[in-house]
Amino acid sequence: MLEFIRSDLSEFKAYTPHPTGVPGHTESAAPLQYDQLDTNENPYDLPEDLKQKLTWHYTQAIRANRYPDGGHGQLKQAIADYVNESINADLPNISPTQISVGNGSDELIRSLLIATCLRGEGSILVADPTFSMYGILAETLGIPVVRVGRSSATFEMDLVAAEATIARSQHPPVRVVFVVHPNSPTANALTDHELAWLRSLPANILVVIDEAYFEFSQTSVVTELCQRPNWVVLRTFSKAFRLAAHRVGYAVAHSDLITILDKVRLPYNLPSFSQAAALVALQNRSSLLPIVTQLLQERDRLFQALTTLPDLQVWPSDANFLFMRLRQPANPDVITQLHAQLKAEGTLVRLIANGFRVTVGTPEENGRTIDRLKTGLNQAANC
Ligand SMILES: *Cc1c(COP(=O)(O)O)cnc(C)c1O
Repeated sequence: MLEFIRSDLSEFKAYTPHPTGVPGHTESAAPLQYDQLDTNENPYDLPEDLKQKLTWHYTQAIRANRYPDGGHGQLKQAIADYVNESINADLPNISPTQISVGNGSDELIRSLLIATCLRGEGSILVADPTFSMYGILAETLGIPVVRVGRSSATFEMDLVAAEATIARSQHPPVRVVFVVHPNSPTANALTDHELAWLRSLPANILVVIDEAYFEFSQTSVVTELCQRPNWVVLRTFSKAFRLAAHRVGYAVAHSDLITILDKVRLPYNLPSFSQAAALVALQNRSSLLPIVTQLLQERDRLFQALTTLPDLQVWPSDANFLFMRLRQPANPDVITQLHAQLKAEGTLVRLIANGFRVTVGTPEENGRTIDRLKTGLNQAANC
């Protein structure tokens, strides 16, 4: 119908942000009643006192008629200080010139793609199952996506296939490898073997290591960035820091790459209020982040409870979510039915890669997850 639209986009399947709560739909108020365990957010809202601080900041310090700080100066400094906290004092520190801030890490993923692969100059490599945004954003830009698999037991990447695929893909060559550390939806951190392979990649391939779940895994490769100009680490305020509504992510890399990322992004990509929210969160991290410990305890409790269910295979997790599959799905519809049933009862989980990705919620939510999965699996077994 729209003859001016690029031909490849008509086939294109967009990311579904929340499968429920379609705007304008009669269900639009419904997500509030659900246990929203399908997008790996922190179950706890920003505490009231920090919201008050932000409100004060909006009234007193933000001039709505003025553009935001397009250089993100104060925020970059605060992020650098935070990143450096986890870097041993005798290693080189990260400076604000090594940080770029995005409207969510999604924006940074897109900037990285624009900076590397456009004009037919490159394709990207991902190991499925993984975070779907890399492929989706690449495709909207007309960038080819090459995919390899993972071990079905451990979800380690198939490095032999990856190596062969890179050798084979010449038109265009693979310019970026995207990995998540720990991976979503499977929750496994990169192994030494995988890290060694990433280190072995040549300088003309960019390695993107997405550490969206760093605060939960406490494992990071930022200390290696000074030796590796072809590596970039992505992080976000959307998960542990409870700021998904504000859309703030950041990239840490060699300052030359950061300069390029800042060149291709929109000049005022991050609203003043979001910059203020991220700053407030960082300034109050000593009170905000301890919740991570509680969520990890809840994760372990959820894991223990779910591993006792004989029909379910649950994988260990380095993040704030669990990945699970049915052991012997008699027929492939069972998991879809179970997913729908959980939703009908009020628990939203992500149906992905023939399994469920379930976010760790509050103790009450996790209790309901356990009960509803138990009941659902019993019913499935009896039919
Ligand atoms: C949640 C998540 C992000 C965060 O994206 P934002 O755009 O910053 O909200 C990035 N990468 C992965 C793998 C994620 O799971």
